[in-house]
Amino acid sequence: MSKQNILIIGAGLCGSLLALRMAQRGFEVTLVEKRPDLRKVTQDAGRSINLALSDRGLRGLRLAGVEEEAKKLCIPMNGRMIHDKAGNTFLSPYSGRKDEYINSISRPGLNMLLLDEAEKMPNVQLIFNHACEDVDLENASATFRNYNSKEEITISADAIFGTDGAGSAVRKNMFDSHKFLFSFSQQWLSHGYKELEIPAAENNGYRTYKNALHIWPRGEDMLIALPNLDGSFTVTLFLPYENSDYCFANLTSPEMVHEYFNKEFPDVVEMIPNLSEEFFGNPTGPLGTVKCSPWNSFGKVLLLGDAAHAIVPFYGQGMNASFEDVVVFDEILEKYTFEENINWNNFFKEYEALRKKDTDAIADLAVDNFHEMKEHTAMEIFQRKRKLETA
Ligand code: FAD
Repeated sequence: MSKQNILIIGAGLCGSLLALRMAQRGFEVTLVEKRPDLRKVTQDAGRSINLALSDRGLRGLRLAGVEEEAKKLCIPMNGRMIHDKAGNTFLSPYSGRKDEYINSISRPGLNMLLLDEAEKMPNVQLIFNHACEDVDLENASATFRNYNSKEEITISADAIFGTDGAGSAVRKNMFDSHKFLFSFSQQWLSHGYKELEIPAAENNGYRTYKNALHIWPRGEDMLIALPNLDGSFTVTLFLPYENSDYCFANLTSPEMVHEYFNKEFPDVVEMIPNLSEEFFGNPTGPLGTVKCSPWNSFGKVLLLGDAAHAIVPFYGQGMNASFEDVVVFDEILEKYTFEENINWNNFFKEYEALRKKDTDAIADLAVDNFHEMKEHTAMEIFQRKRKLETA
């Protein structure tokens, strides 16, 4: 196989794993990221600091030989721990088998690991602080602006991969260029999310049970928490933006935030000493599903990860699905490695035909699980309580 030049736009979770894997396959890889290098500059607060990593995601990491290193960053979560309003808890195991669990992992920690591994490859060039502004889809070149100097650079390649996330600039170029030949849908939930932190207890202890995904289901709104290695938990509040007694639009003062938490999550109030500072200091993010097709343009540019299929986080599968993209991509690549010049057009079509039905399915399941988590898990508490009372 000839050494083709590959340009990957977006060095998040999907882009950095793809860069590593393609470099292992012998391609000359340039990976460009709009943000500063997160290994040198602390990343913004409020951006899903930890994530649930499941077996699907681990397969991608295994493929690139980084599974064992990634596992060092993981905390196993054996089940969902449900919290009712009175502070009672019960653990609902994910499986009857002891060795089945999902993992809580730090997003920046995992991203750093993938960037470190990619950087070790002699055939990977990393460029930070450059935002993609335009893609010449037909000729496989992209223009980036340096955030500091404002200078523009253009990079050409044999193929371009858009892994620039849910708000993808690469996808926008496809949308503008192909017009009615490019299908695109974006559906927002009426809820947004906000991250808070339960700090570590003394000596990096945990203020609640460590090995679980914690859920406080309250019907219309919900709180979840995942453990971090330093003893803290990253908490995410899912709340309607408006049209509800308690919604982001109404929680405008520290008193209101405390009133709401005292009523709905009294056990959490004890665990977050700086509740209102956290609440007003961290951004509120939207939750949406993006579907589009075709994922490729002119057989030169392909979308992967959230750029191709952003989903709501209620199955904890967005990153896992993005890593699985790389696994499926690599399986197809295996067949094409014997070609002198890869026919990317055929390759990309084969990839989308195999992959899109699965990413569409997980997108729909994730929305369903939003209702399941906030409503039915609450029902589960109620039924369990009733059983105990009548026993
Ligand atoms: P991203 O991680 O968004 O990376 C895209 C990268 O592209 C970023 O580094 C960005 O800076 C860069 N970029 C953007 N625009 C440009 C540009 N113009 N030029 C250059 N670079 C650019 N998934 C799970 O599997 N488990 C979970 O538990 C989970 N929890 C979540 C919780 C929340 C609240 C949210 C919002 C998401 C969650 N997800 C979870 C989903 C997961 O975060 C995404 O699916 C995953 O990050 C997708 O990876 P990606 O690399 O495709 O996109």
